[in-house]
Amino acid sequence: MDNCPSCSRRVYVIEKIEANGRVYHKNCFKCVEEGCRLTLANFHFHNEELFCPKHVPKLQAVVVQTKNQPEHMGRL
Ligand SMILES: [Zn+2]
Ligand SMILES: [Zn+2]
Repeated sequence: MDNCPSCSRRVYVIEKIEANGRVYHKNCFKCVEEGCRLTLANFHFHNEELFCPKHVPKLQAVVVQTKNQPEHMGRL
């Protein structure tokens, strides 16, 4: 029997929803931000938490430095 990662209570078959290899209660399968309703088609999983497409934290944009590096790289 699985426990819901959200409320850590036991999940029974009739109320379970399986996502990301985990089993949630239907009621717990919601956005952690505002409790937005999620579906298996639109949920996002971030840092062990569920988010709707609207509230999922934007991934930190990897800033690529495009400026030219000096030729002489200091040795570490
Ligand atoms: Zn739950
Ligand atoms: Zn949301």
